[in-house]
Amino acid sequence: MIGRFGFRLYSIFFKTYSEKLWGISCKELDEDFAAQRIKKLSLFEAVKNALFKSKKNKHKTLVDQFAYPIGGTGMVYERMKEFIEKNGGQVYLNTPVEKVISENNTAISIQKKSGEVIEYDHMISSMPITHLVKNLTDVPHQVIEANSNLKFRNTILVYLKLEGQNIFPDNWLYVHASDLEMGRVTNFSNWVPEINNNEKSTIVALEYWSYDDDVIWKKSDQDLIELAKSEMTKTGLIKGIEVSAGHVVKIPKCYPVYQRGYKEPLQIVENYLSGVRNLSVIGRYGAFKYNNQDHSILMGVMAAENITSGTNHNLWSINTDYEEYQEKSTITASGLSVGE
Ligand SMILES: Cc1cc2nc3c(=O)[nH]c(=O)nc-3n(C[C@H](O)[C@H](O)[C@H](O)COP(=O)(O)OP(=O)(O)OC[C@H]3O[C@@H](n4cnc5c(N)ncnc54)[C@H](O)[C@@H]3O)c2cc1C
Repeated sequence: MIGRFGFRLYSIFFKTYSEKLWGISCKELDEDFAAQRIKKLSLFEAVKNALFKSKKNKHKTLVDQFAYPIGGTGMVYERMKEFIEKNGGQVYLNTPVEKVISENNTAISIQKKSGEVIEYDHMISSMPITHLVKNLTDVPHQVIEANSNLKFRNTILVYLKLEGQNIFPDNWLYVHASDLEMGRVTNFSNWVPEINNNEKSTIVALEYWSYDDDVIWKKSDQDLIELAKSEMTKTGLIKGIEVSAGHVVKIPKCYPVYQRGYKEPLQIVENYLSGVRNLSVIGRYGAFKYNNQDHSILMGVMAAENITSGTNHNLWSINTDYEEYQEKSTITASGLSVGE
């Protein structure tokens, strides 16, 4: 980043935000993160885009328009559920799986948290990879050790209802200021106005990130709402606007941390899991890939193709090799690939 943009821009736009997000010094962050997220954007391209706003040959990182479901991103998954059920499949919600049971390197069944065990021919796991490996049977010591070196970062979303409109014109603002704990604030009305039921109020979500032992992760909902209120006031974005309600959602293990040296233990875990028959792992936490929704969905599609059509897609390489797949396949996932 310093090489591409210079130290000053790096310290203003990259350092503080990234350190809030990952909770480690940028010196500890693996270069994979920047390579994947900022692709090959250069200072020259960023300036050219800002000055001339050309639509031609626009860099992937500089998206200013994208399709978004009118009822929010959850609609995509609701439609999938409807499709599955219409075709005779079953979807069980709120049914946590405690472990995948394997014998002789073959996954044979799952055990639900309720204790019930069910046998399946194939299992595709999107639970955090660390949880999966920890609970598999007869995992070699070296793999357990490697697995314990992979870590995840948690997210806390604090939603605030603001009694006003047009708070700010952006979808979200990235908050670099080091005197504020929040890292990003999202204004849902600016994604699709209908999402707010045409009410006169505005819902915003403030994002905070933490590890399990951090003080903020243990704070009560009420304390978090108070923190969010005071930080929004401090930004100057809600002058004179009343905050009439708040709601907190805590998402554990939602970012795989690309800390320097992570590749070695991940490779050991990947090699082991690749040898477990009838088991595929997919998704952001499932495969420890800092994917967006498009790549996560594509991993699911490809895992299904491997099972139903006998293809041999390498699910571990999605993100890096995704464009190559897109060229060959009729399935495209573009349009969702924004954000974060
Ligand atoms: C605040 C925020 C903003 C984001 N913004 C964007 C954006 O703008 N654009 C974008 O493309 N992406 C965005 N993302 C990322 C996107 O949400 C993820 O990349 C995507 O959801 C990952 O898909 P997944 O299938 O891996 O995980 P999920 O969508 O989380 O699905 C995993 C599923 O596995 C289930 N599961 C986990 N453990 C178990 C278990 N033990 N038993 C049973 N079920 C289990 C979970 O309940 C969940 O339903 C955002 C993420 C966050 C947190």
